[in-house]
Amino acid sequence: MDREPYHPRISPMSAGLRGRCPRCGLGKLFKGYLLPRQACDSCGLDYSFADAGDGPAIFIILIVGFIVVGLALAVEVTYRPSYWVHAALWLPLGIALPLLLLRPAKGILMCQQYAHDAHQGFIDRS
Ligand SMILES: [Zn+2]
Repeated sequence: MDREPYHPRISPMSAGLRGRCPRCGLGKLFKGYLLPRQACDSCGLDYSFADAGDGPAIFIILIVGFIVVGLALAVEVTYRPSYWVHAALWLPLGIALPLLLLRPAKGILMCQQYAHDAHQGFIDRS
């Protein structure tokens, strides 16, 4: 029987935010911006279990939409600026925030999948 080497318990939130392996916390989770690696380069954990799907994008759309629309409404009600001010403020913010938050969100969801042993549902016919 193969025994896994001992690894300290890693917080999925911490490892995901840092883009690190959910088992050892050392190896990188991504190669590039959002593409997961095949395996951890430190402990060898196979990342094939990790499939966050559209989850991170949906969370980021909702969170950033809440922030940007809320700020736009607050600025409109408070200052009544012209439309070009709105465009100059909210378009860059609406592009920059998702780009900043998408990778950590995907890392968190992938690490949560590992921590909770989550995987596709299946029908057990036995
Ligand atoms: Zn690892």
